[in-house]
Order: sequence, then C-alpha cells, then structure tokens
Amino acid sequence: MNFELTEEQQAFREVLRRFVDKEIVPVARDWEHSGRYPTEIVTGMAEMGLFGMTVPEAYGGLDLDPVSFALVFEELSRGWMGIAGILGSHSLSCRMIAAHGTDEQRQRYLPELASGRRRTGIGLTEPDAGTDLQGIRTTARLTGGNYLVNGTKMWITNARHADPLPVLVKTDPAATPAHRGMSVLLVDADTPGFTVTKDIAKLGYKGTESCEVVLDGALVPQENLLGGVEGRGLQQVLSALEWGRVNIAARSVGIAQRGYDEALAYARQRKAFGRPIADFQAIQLKLGSMATNVQAARLMAYYAADAVRLGRADGPTGMAKIFCSEVALETAIDAMKVHGGYGYSTEYEVERLYRDAILMSIGEGTNDVLRTVVAKSAVRGDTVIG
Ligand SMILES: Cc1cc2nc3c(=O)[nH]c(=O)nc-3n(C[C@H](O)[C@H](O)[C@H](O)COP(=O)(O)OP(=O)(O)OC[C@H]3O[C@@H](n4cnc5c(N)ncnc54)[C@H](O)[C@@H]3O)c2cc1C
Repeated sequence: MNFELTEEQQAFREVLRRFVDKEIVPVARDWEHSGRYPTEIVTGMAEMGLFGMTVPEAYGGLDLDPVSFALVFEELSRGWMGIAGILGSHSLSCRMIAAHGTDEQRQRYLPELASGRRRTGIGLTEPDAGTDLQGIRTTARLTGGNYLVNGTKMWITNARHADPLPVLVKTDPAATPAHRGMSVLLVDADTPGFTVTKDIAKLGYKGTESCEVVLDGALVPQENLLGGVEGRGLQQVLSALEWGRVNIAARSVGIAQRGYDEALAYARQRKAFGRPIADFQAIQLKLGSMATNVQAARLMAYYAADAVRLGRADGPTGMAKIFCSEVALETAIDAMKVHGGYGYSTEYEVERLYRDAILMSIGEGTNDVLRTVVAKSAVRGDTVIG
C-alpha cells in the first residue's frame, strides 16, 4: 500500500498550486462578485494544456491519469470552484468524443479542443428531466442528410463558449426501453436554429455561465451523430460519468481545504478575551474535525480516481462524490462559524465557499440518487465493503 502521489503527480501538483496561488487566489473574490469573466485565467489554463487533459496525446492532449485529473480540479477549486467548471464538462466531453467519436469527428474536433481554441460542454438536462435522462423530450429526426432537432436544454455550463456542444436527443422517441432511441449530436455553435437563450441567475458557481439552450428546428448534419450510429447516446454519456464523479469529489476537496486553511489562519490571528480564538476548545474542536474530514475526503477522492484507472468504479466514485461533497459543505459552514460575524461578510472568502459547496451535492448525480447507485452496486456484489 502506498499513500503517496508519484513524483510526476507531485511535480504536476506544484505547477498547479503555483498557478492557482498566483493567478486565481488574488482575483477570485472581486471577479466573482462583479461577475467578470475570467478571460486571463482561461488563457493561462490553455497555456498549461489543461483543456487537453482528457484528450489522447495523438491529438495534442495531456491524456492525464485519473489521479492527476483529480489534482487539477482540487487545486483549481481551492482557488475558485467556478473556474473548475470551465474545464469540467469540457474535459468529460473531450473524453466522450475521444472514446466514441468517429475518426473524422476526432480529427475535426479534438486537436482544437485540446489547445483551448475550441471549447465544449454537455447538454443533457432539460426543464422537465435531469436525473431521469430517459425522460428527455428533445427530438432529432433525420431528413435529407440532416437531423431536424427540437427541444430545450437547461443548466448548460459553458454554453456560450461551447463549439461543438454535445446534446443528448431522442432519435427514436418511441423506442423501448427509451435509451435505445437516444443519441448524442455534436451541435456546432453556428448551427441555424441553435440559440443560447438565457443565463440562469444562481447562488454560486460564478465565473462560468449556466444557460438555457433552445434547439428550434436546428439542422445538424448527419455526420455530427457521435460515433455515427444511433441509439448509443445514453451509454456514451454514462461512460464519462465516473470521471465526472471524481471531478466533483476533487472539487469538493479543494473547497474543503480552502475552508480549513481560511479557518486556521483566522483562528490564529483573531483575538477574543485577550487570546487568539485558536486557544478556545470550541474552536479547536472545529479545526480538529475539519482537518480530519478534509484529509479523509482527499483519500477517498484519490482512491476513487485510482479505482477508475483500474476499471469500472461505480461504488468508489459514488461514495467519494457523496462523502467529499458533504465534507465540503460542512467545512464551509464551520469555517464561517470560526469567522464569527465576518464569516457572513462578502469581504471574506468563506461565504463563497459555502455558496459553491452546496452545488457539489447536486451535480453528476444528486447525492440521494448516488446513494441508491452505491446500494444497487453493493446488492449486485460489484461493490464490496470490507
Ligand atoms: C449550476 C449547475 C450547473 C449544471 N450544469 C449542467 C450541464 O453543464 N449540463 C447538464 O446537462 N446539466 C447540468 N446541470 C443539471 C444537473 O445535472 C441537474 O440539476 C441534476 O442532474 C439534477 O436534475 P434536476 O435538477 O432535474 O433534479 P430532479 O431530477 O428533478 O431531482 C429533484 C429531486 O428529486 C430527487 N430524485 C429524483 N429522482 C430520484 C430517484 N430515482 N430516487 C431518489 N431521489 C430522486 C433528487 O435527488 C432531487 O432531490 C447543472 C445544474 C446546476 C445547478
């Protein structure tokens, strides 16, 4: 058993840490509150090759191992979780195109996606269907070499920058079970009838846009059907989900680490009754619990990432996503409590951590749904505890 990162992973983490401390930490609070788009940070991430982290080297990507992939999301989220959102669905869709795209689709999109010249996201959720993806209503009917697409997608991260946006559709709405009639279309941004209709106002996760997208008679060329065969869309999307859960678990660790760092620093310098508040046992109990939880969450996230490297990992990734996201929220709340009244002030970092942490229990499968996924995996015997 070895709990150490490899030398290469440690060196990579150092590069990430320097970038986050220099380029993200100093601006996060101001830019988050003003709603300014983090253009310079995006440029820096592109220069580091991070837009290609899940793209094979043959197409110019870094092709990171899952633990290094987790380190990217952990470190970015320690600085500002919203920035991790710019790379989240982008990296999952790159993986999906690399794994399931035709040779022509890989050649057409992956080199530019790896460099950040093109960016992407993923369009699954609809106004009336999120968890229940087989209940989507967006339809795509083949007519004269194009798919005629109609439907609305909700909450699409990076929608204003995505080109192409992979969109889950029903190519055969009558199919039973429904997933046999579902496909992914790679929708280019300039497709007639494809419109990003609004930015959804939200509590946190600023710095990246979350949008409603309408496909109103959009004409998508048949060659943009991912993999070239209808009926494989849900499997293609689900194949990227384990990486997605590692991504969210790692973001949660980053948020929790920052909450702990902020609380520890504040407890050392804030005085009450003539002593640093770190001398009070009530504060020590919080710091001790935070430190314990952050470290346990980190180990779970890395364990899940390594399990993905070894194969199918529903159980470890589901458990890590549940546990780490709950630690992120608890740690953010405790960090606010350690800050007293200042914890509620927008002049400190911890209120943002709290607003961002809540999302971690929703994305990539809500925690309740994931609990049922873990339980089913255990009942099948695929996940063995002990
Ligand atoms: C900021 C943000 C960014 C997002 N980015 C994207 C994106 O880029 N692309 C994208 O496609 N989507 C995105 N989403 C959507 C996200 O994936 C969905 O919100 C999530 O999957 C939940 O779906 P829903 O909101 O429709 O909730 P619902 O599915 O309606 O769930 C509502 C409640 O019912 C519970 N529930 C539902 N089914 C079950 C069940 N079988 N068993 C037990 N409980 C159940 C859920 O746990 C939840 O508590 C984003 C969401 C947010 C908030």
